[in-house]
Amino acid sequence: MSNNPIGVYIHIPFCASKCPYCDFYSITADEGLYDQYTNAVNKSIESWLAKLQRNVDTVYFGGGTPSVIGAGRLGSVLSLLNGYITEDAEITVECNPSGVDREFFEGIRRAGANRISMGLQSAVDSERRALGRRAGIKDAANAIELARQSGFSNISLDLMLGIPGQTQKSLGESVDFCVKSNVTHVSAYILKIEENTPFFSMQSTLALPGEDEQCELYLTACDALNTAGYKQYEISNFSIRGLESRHNLKYWRCEEYLGVGCSAHSHIDGKRFYYNRDISSFINGCAPVDDGYAGSAEEYIMLALRLTQGLTQAGFESRFGREIPRKIVEKAKEFESFGLAVCDENTIWLTARGFLVSNSIITELLMCM
Ligand code: SF4
Repeated sequence: MSNNPIGVYIHIPFCASKCPYCDFYSITADEGLYDQYTNAVNKSIESWLAKLQRNVDTVYFGGGTPSVIGAGRLGSVLSLLNGYITEDAEITVECNPSGVDREFFEGIRRAGANRISMGLQSAVDSERRALGRRAGIKDAANAIELARQSGFSNISLDLMLGIPGQTQKSLGESVDFCVKSNVTHVSAYILKIEENTPFFSMQSTLALPGEDEQCELYLTACDALNTAGYKQYEISNFSIRGLESRHNLKYWRCEEYLGVGCSAHSHIDGKRFYYNRDISSFINGCAPVDDGYAGSAEEYIMLALRLTQGLTQAGFESRFGREIPRKIVEKAKEFESFGLAVCDENTIWLTARGFLVSNSIITELLMCM
């Protein structure tokens, strides 16, 4: 068993209201259910930590909207982790700009949180409304300021690309807002219309940018964020150097993490497992579902190619004791000739244009294994 510290992800499946494009597992609920669920999370964490006996160097409360359950409940989870958390641990809480106040930020800061990830999506109010988001841009600016005054210097904002009605100009306003807010990290995701969401049935009536426009929005975002000092380190993630999300890097580096809560996934001791998307069964103490072996060479390559650092010979060799298969390098060179990848002796990485078609590229590379 490894002694390396693990990450802990805690899924909070509650939101103040449901956004019409969202297929994350979350519902609206009341305080009673928040309590029952938090108790179940605490019980689960206690038993996992006692069993694993591993230190924890990143904690991530995701959702849903973790802030809706309040600082007290989030703090109760953190207090259980206290004996395991390393001194320099990164502890992130996702929140929405609406429904957070000074008391919330001060409460989670006192409990040990040191990083905020906020769902901005857009700095343009009409775009935020199109996404069903409650807060206006003034609320977002206020929430960032309150977080900062409460002691958070490490703040990430989520942006969305391909919002109905979004243009290059309006995207520029959103990027400018992030830069002027002086946040440390930006995530920029392309809106995907998922089945079983209201947006799926409404899509013909939405002013959605076409595929080419979406690609241009992505390339513009990459360019503008990089120019502003937010270096891209993953397909959708950009940061001031040294402030990359350490928790999320564990996923892409194929490192270990424990996921607690319904729909949370884990990678521990060479195995993957997950909890079902069902709040009641989690509250009733259901066991996680086995999801097979973790950490194969294929998985490692697939995840490494999401990072701008790419797939390195040194990393692959130290993990698998052999070189990156020759056929993969040869295939990657074909993509290089189209400007989609770059290969040198030691590394293969995808360009920004390559990231736009990363699924197809990675599938073709893995077919060479
Ligand atoms: S706030 Fe986030 S998790 Fe909740 S419904 Fe909206 S997009 Fe989904």
